[in-house]
Amino acid sequence: MSTLMGKTALVTGSSRGIGRATAVRLARDGALVAVHYTANKDAAEETVSAIRGGGGRAFAVRAELGVPGDVDELFAGLEAGLVEHTGATALDILVNNAGVMGGGSAQETTPELFDRLFAVNVKAPFFLIQRAMANLSEGGRIVNISSGLSRIASPGVVTYALTKGAVEHLAPHFAKLLAPRGITVNTVAPGVTRNDSPVFDNADAVAEMARMSAFDRVGEPEDVADVVAFLASPQGRWVTGAFLDATGGSLLG
Ligand code: NDP
Repeated sequence: MSTLMGKTALVTGSSRGIGRATAVRLARDGALVAVHYTANKDAAEETVSAIRGGGGRAFAVRAELGVPGDVDELFAGLEAGLVEHTGATALDILVNNAGVMGGGSAQETTPELFDRLFAVNVKAPFFLIQRAMANLSEGGRIVNISSGLSRIASPGVVTYALTKGAVEHLAPHFAKLLAPRGITVNTVAPGVTRNDSPVFDNADAVAEMARMSAFDRVGEPEDVADVVAFLASPQGRWVTGAFLDATGGSLLG
């Protein structure tokens, strides 16, 4: 399929995990993809190489999110890469995927950790969308990655869950604002999804996490990437402001 031929995409946090799978899938669909990362340059370059090896087009962009100047730094690299590859700075697809999990329990969250989780998971996506509005083409696509945890009471990670509850609210507001330009804005909420965490090397832990899903397995990054790719495609044109449950049935109870 080459449904995204001639399109450009930025996937934040696409050196690894769900972001990498999304970058690979969008590139396979024909998009030129900006592979964003912060610390793991080798992983970002591996993603770019994997895309190029498959005949796709990609370049890496580094910027730490959640710190002053983050959006400007990211867009400086993004626009330089877009100009180099396309001669222009138009962006068709923005996937706000980068996020920090880690801690945030009801009893132990510190004000510093609270601020850090909100800075990366909520403030950065908000201002990335605000900044991207100047670059986004008619018919553009924005997808924000949340988590099924926003809908499951989880005292152990309450602060993380709060950030995901907040990020979900970007979709309806920006969807209404950007609909006149044909731009859709949606949320995709993964359930437990395999990433580099050592917990996925522990068979007992994986079996326990799998039980959360109606399909009795943990999600693979590609399970989520395929949902994002649908929203990013021309076929997703009539879906906006929506919350898509991509948890493999983990919210069914
Ligand atoms: P990973 O932990 O595998 O990768 C995180 C990515 O985000 C990396 O590319 C990392 O870059 C980047 N990143 C992290 N912090 C920052 C920062 N401060 N600034 C810039 N980039 C940053 O992610 P997952 O695939 O596990 O998760 C992706 C998204 O999905 C997140 O929003 C997460 O909350 C959500 N999610 C994940 C679930 C899961 O079970 N995995 C479940 C539900 C939701 P680098 O490689 O340079 O470190």
